[in-house]
Amino acid sequence: MKIAILSQDSSLYSTKRLREAGETRGHQMRVINYLRCYMNITSHQPTVVYNGNLLENFDAIIPRIGASRTFYGTAVVRQFEVMGVFSANESHAISRSRDKLHCLQILAREGIGLPVTGFAHATEDIHGLIETVGGAPLVIKLLEGTQGIGVVLAETYQAAKSVIEAFRGLNANILVQEFIKEAKGADIRCFVVNNKVVASMKRQGAEGEFRSNLHRGGKAEKIKLTPEERSTAVRAAKAMGLKIAGVDMLRSNHGPVVMEVNSSPGLEGIEKYTEVDVASKIIEFLEKNVKEIATD
Ligand code: ADP
Ligand code: MG
Repeated sequence: MKIAILSQDSSLYSTKRLREAGETRGHQMRVINYLRCYMNITSHQPTVVYNGNLLENFDAIIPRIGASRTFYGTAVVRQFEVMGVFSANESHAISRSRDKLHCLQILAREGIGLPVTGFAHATEDIHGLIETVGGAPLVIKLLEGTQGIGVVLAETYQAAKSVIEAFRGLNANILVQEFIKEAKGADIRCFVVNNKVVASMKRQGAEGEFRSNLHRGGKAEKIKLTPEERSTAVRAAKAMGLKIAGVDMLRSNHGPVVMEVNSSPGLEGIEKYTEVDVASKIIEFLEKNVKEIATD
C-alpha cells in the first residue's frame, strides 16, 4: 500500500515509528507536512498539492494532527476523504475529540462513567457551581489546557472560589470536576486500535503531585486492566468515532471514570513502558480495512 503520515515533523518519535513499521511490512510510506499542503476543493476532481506535486494514489492516511493545528489539519484530512482515501481516524471525529466539553457530553450520552463535572464561562453563581460537583476538594480545568497545565486542585471551598474567580477574570472556559482522591495521583492510558485495547499503562504523578502527566514528572508502568476498564476504553473510543484513540481514565470508588479521549495519542511512552509494538498494530489495522474496502 501507499500510506501517507500527516505530521508536521518527520523526526517525532511517533512519526518515525509509524514509518518504520509500515516499511517493515512492505508498504510505501511518506511523511506529509499537512500545513504545507494546499487543496483544490472543486467537486469533480478534488486534489491535494504538496511541494508543487499532486498527492495521488494513496491507499490510506494516518493523521497526526497537532492540538494547535486542528482547523487546517482536519481540512486536509477531509480532502483526502473526499478523494476516497481511507483515513485511520476520520476528520469529524478528530475535530470532536479536540473539544474536551463536547467529548464529555458525547461520553455522558453513551452512559460511560465520568467524574461528576460542571462547565461554566462567567457564572455569577460560583457557590452553585461548586456544589454541582459536591463541594471541595475539587479539580478546576481550563478547557484549552494540555499536559497538565491549567489543571488545579482546590482543597478548600475558599481556594476553589478564588481560582474560579481568577479564571473568570481571564474570560476562560472552565470545567469543574469532582476530585477522585482514591486514584492517588495515578491514571490509566489505554491505547485503542480498531475497537481493541492493544496496550495500557498506569501513570503515577511525582511525589505530592495529583497530576500524573509524564510531562509533569510522572512515571509509568505496564498495567493489567480489569474487564470493565477494557470495555470502558473501547466504548469511549467507539462513542467518539475514533479507530485510534488514547483513552485516559481514573480508578474511582464507583468504577473507571474517563477523563479524556485523545485522537493523536503519542507512541513513545506507551511503547517504552509496555514493550508493545503499537505502530505495527496501527499498520495492520490499515491493511485489514483497505483490503476490506477493495473487496466490497
Ligand atoms: P490534560 O489534558 O492537561 O492532561 P487532564 O484532564 O488529563 O488534563 O488532567 C491532568 C491530570 O490530572 C490527569 O492525568 C490526572 O492524573 C489528574 N486529574 C485530572 N482530573 C482529575 C480528577 N477529577 N480527579 C483526580 N485527578 C485528576
Ligand atoms: Mg491528560
